[in-house]
Amino acid sequence: MKNIFSLTLGIILLIIIFSFISLLSLYDYNTLFYSYSSNSHFNNNTYYFSNSEFFWPVPGYHTITSYFGKRESPANGASSNHSGIDIAAAEGSAIFSVLSGKVIYTGFYGANGHTVIIESNSYSIQYSHISPNYIVSVGDYIEKGNIIGTVGPKYITDIINNPYKDSSGKSTNGATTGPHLHITIKENTIPIDPLEFFNR
Ligand SMILES: [Zn+2]
Repeated sequence: MKNIFSLTLGIILLIIIFSFISLLSLYDYNTLFYSYSSNSHFNNNTYYFSNSEFFWPVPGYHTITSYFGKRESPANGASSNHSGIDIAAAEGSAIFSVLSGKVIYTGFYGANGHTVIIESNSYSIQYSHISPNYIVSVGDYIEKGNIIGTVGPKYITDIINNPYKDSSGKSTNGATTGPHLHITIKENTIPIDPLEFFNR
């Protein structure tokens, strides 16, 4: 009798734990779905999405490690007038297209490392220091919110005579100190502050 009681109690406990986990993942799914499908409001330092029609490229990552404009060069060969922003993100994180548009460039782009550029009307959006394993090609039409690549590694081996190296002499993914997404947004060929853009 005691054994049956313990067994029943065990099963009930399992059911409770299982329901809790399901609820949690459901909640996660909803937040995910909500974030991906609608425009939440821009609030202070939380750059998920804007109150406008633009898609935040690395959902879940909102730490800006380098802002737009004048700065001290963080790595050998990196610009002192930053054409975009750097968003800290783990290597392998999915990168989503900010706008719908056409891929106009994929390849190693000097100090920017491995790069995809997508043109969308008067805007061009450049995603840099990404993985050399490209999943889009020049000419592809990309919908806003579709995955265009993943955040690349710090070190790469695929570029012969790569001038970008760290202090140990290892070949790096452009001028970079670690995995992150650099994004440059140009409006009519002029770089604009991406954070200002996302706040439109
Ligand atoms: Zn940068």
